[in-house]
Amino acid sequence: MKIGVIAIQGNVAEHVNALERTLAERNDRGEIIPVRQSGLVPDCDAIVLPGGESTTLARLMWKEGIAEEIQNAAALNVPILGTCAGLVLLAKHGDCQTTRTKQRLLDIMDIEVRRNAYGRQHESFETLIDIPVVGGAFPAVFIRAPAIVRCGDDVTPLARLGEYIVAAQQGNALALAFHPEMVEDTRLHHYFMDMI
Ligand code: GLN
Repeated sequence: MKIGVIAIQGNVAEHVNALERTLAERNDRGEIIPVRQSGLVPDCDAIVLPGGESTTLARLMWKEGIAEEIQNAAALNVPILGTCAGLVLLAKHGDCQTTRTKQRLLDIMDIEVRRNAYGRQHESFETLIDIPVVGGAFPAVFIRAPAIVRCGDDVTPLARLGEYIVAAQQGNALALAFHPEMVEDTRLHHYFMDMI
């Protein structure tokens, strides 16, 4: 099993580490591949889009030709996990910030997102949220986190916080507004690997 982590910018090392821990817990000898250029995604059995700065990530992904490869993989039902900025990129609809910065989204999930829905960097926080598909309370770290404000009919909301949806799934695409790679708990990474 090959899992590609888009390694252009952002929380890459944390995801690689969490994926390796999860593979070890499963006794699975999978391979984690940092993706910095085109040509690698088509060989991957799953893709992770880490958090970071979504405007920068989007610009570089399209420039490198990685964005189209991810869209093709999604069309073939390859599991894709997007966390935080990665959630923004998976969306079909953005907000006034994505419009102002002319951010091109991947249009993989029928969701409408709001960037920085929970405020700025100093308003980052950790809290327990209820995610029934992984058995309940999960420690979620929110850092300049986006949120999902609307889901299409094919999208299943998996968790909420306040007025927003913070985790959702559409087919094999999984979007999380928080950072599961920053906590010890690997249940969401296991949930993702179960899709492969
Ligand atoms: N607010 C950032 C953005 O929209 C995402 C923050 C993060 O990924 N930690 O680009």
